[in-house]
Amino acid sequence: MKTFQHATVSSVTDAISILSKHGDNAKLMAGGTDLIGLLKSKATTNYPDVVVNIKPITGLDQIKQESGGLIIGALTRLSDIVDSEAIQDAYPILAEAAASVAMPQIRNVGTLGGNLAQETRCWYFRYPHSIGGRIMCKRKGEGACLAVKGDNRYHAIFGGKKCFAVCPSDMAVALAALDAEIQISGPRGERSVAVTGFYRPLGNVLETDEMITGIRVPRPAQNNRQVFIKHRVRDAIDFATVSVGLVVSMDAETVADARVVLGAVAPGPYRATEAEAALVGRELDQAVIGKAAEASVAGAVPLSGNAYKIEIAKTLVRRALRI
Ligand SMILES: Cc1cc2nc3c(=O)[nH]c(=O)nc-3n(C[C@H](O)[C@H](O)[C@H](O)COP(=O)(O)OP(=O)(O)OC[C@H]3O[C@@H](n4cnc5c(N)ncnc54)[C@H](O)[C@@H]3O)c2cc1C
Ligand code: SF4
Repeated sequence: MKTFQHATVSSVTDAISILSKHGDNAKLMAGGTDLIGLLKSKATTNYPDVVVNIKPITGLDQIKQESGGLIIGALTRLSDIVDSEAIQDAYPILAEAAASVAMPQIRNVGTLGGNLAQETRCWYFRYPHSIGGRIMCKRKGEGACLAVKGDNRYHAIFGGKKCFAVCPSDMAVALAALDAEIQISGPRGERSVAVTGFYRPLGNVLETDEMITGIRVPRPAQNNRQVFIKHRVRDAIDFATVSVGLVVSMDAETVADARVVLGAVAPGPYRATEAEAALVGRELDQAVIGKAAEASVAGAVPLSGNAYKIEIAKTLVRRALRI
């Protein structure tokens, strides 16, 4: 690992001040479970001069109930989300998604903010420098996307543009299904971005001098059903090959509202709006479930090696609607 300066801050203002001074040469570190691995592998060329330890910032590790929903601090650990009674009671999809992340050791230090802002797992991107030299590509600012003609079995079937890497965050899928917003602070003030609008094909909307401070989750309608299902190669610990987050609210036997979100198929959590339209105003019988599953993958454009994701996505949507 190259050397870097390690700065510890105790306020959002101090963190932003360091980011403003160093720009792309500074990196925030929360749990470090993603960042440190990436730095050790020297997979990227934009190695930071300063790593800013934000863990001591007080107040950002709490789950607070407010009238319209929840505010989850960016430094809340994934294990705290799994264990939170408030979340288990009214937002169980978040506990399910958090429990599916990695393993207990990582959930005990990994934070929600870090989970949302983690870097892609594309194997070309992550290739370690020590084994014959890092691999450059579009996302690293040099050359084309190697996944287009290469091994793209885990890459995007929706929305790939320049880079076909998928968003690896399980929490993004569950939060998008709940219509959550990411709260961002920077030198120009505060702003909120919907989780569905946070990601871009080459990364996310954060400026180099901004940080996530919290996530606002609106309270779902009374009679709702929430499901998160994740398909992965190794059940014990793995990123999703495809996942689904579903929040459906019912008016007696009829679907009043539905959010169907697919994970690991696009640069961000992918909202399957055609599936939602196939559900709203209808009873959840087999025919409607089948139509929604088909509609969930409308417009998918698979690469040479990942058309199988379409079948998995349809199956997961069908299963989620039957639970
Ligand atoms: C073996 C392994 C398995 C994993 N499996 C899964 C999985 O199944 N599902 C899944 O979703 N994830 C998985 N992960 C990723 C893991 O969830 C994340 O590494 C963890 O949640 C990141 O949190 P962190 O606090 O450690 O982030 P860090 O490593 O500290 O940071 C990650 C990135 O986010 C940035 N960042 C951190 N906090 C903020 C903030 N508040 N504002 C702006 N930027 C910020 C950092 O600068 C860095 O770029 C896995 C990781 C490992 C190592
Ligand atoms: S998918 Fe993105 S990260 Fe992977 S090789 Fe292509 S440009 Fe690079």
